[in-house]
Amino acid sequence: MRRYLIAGNWKMNKTIKEACELVNKLVAELKDIKEIDIAIFPPFTALSETYKIIKETNISLGAQNMWYEPKGAYTGETSPAFIVDVGCKYVIVGHSERRKYFQEKDELINRKVKSAIEWNLIPIVCVGETLEQREKGETNKVIEYEINELDGIDFSKIVLAYEPIWAIGTGKTATPETAEETHKFIRDLIQKKYSPEIASNLCILYGGSAKPDNIEALIRKPDIDGALVGGASLEANSFIEMIKKARSV
Ligand code: PEP
Repeated sequence: MRRYLIAGNWKMNKTIKEACELVNKLVAELKDIKEIDIAIFPPFTALSETYKIIKETNISLGAQNMWYEPKGAYTGETSPAFIVDVGCKYVIVGHSERRKYFQEKDELINRKVKSAIEWNLIPIVCVGETLEQREKGETNKVIEYEINELDGIDFSKIVLAYEPIWAIGTGKTATPETAEETHKFIRDLIQKKYSPEIASNLCILYGGSAKPDNIEALIRKPDIDGALVGGASLEANSFIEMIKKARSV
């Protein structure tokens, strides 16, 4: 049985003090919510302090990225071992901003996902098409390619996030119908490639300008299991409202 997951990707925002202020507000308002899963992804510098606040609560911690090796000469990188050590349960892999600004390619993403699973982290793996690809009618082709590149990965151990790149941080949300079409395409593909069981248990999040006024309509769709939320997770009231609305669906 799939559970809804609402995950807040803070990206490169919030000092430690700001992060703790936000987390304290979230804990105060959300501590009794048991029906859905909640996760936050603060920047690396704030993981340790925010974990101290959420440790005994229903809010889980995640990292926004990781390297695939556990240690070594990788200046500036963060190991899966460190992420586990600091209290993370999740890690985002293959976000379109990493693909775009840091030239992350599918082969690297594959390695990171495998490594995350080895470290018992739950990778949230992002896939999605550009506006140009959508306008050319290539959405399904792009998604299928990205999923095929996740070769050798146990799909019962990951969360997928469908994030149309044209909807990320733009205020343009895919309509629930458009998003559902792609979510269903993904689930059908996983069923064909793996098994009906893996497909029906796979949590597929929607990401791209999800906010309080569209979350309900999105997650009412049968194949949308929650949201990866960027901008709207940076402000306590909007993230809290999204979670309360998701709980009531
Ligand atoms: C994201 O960064 O994953 C995202 C979906 O951002 P936003 O909600 O701001 O579009």
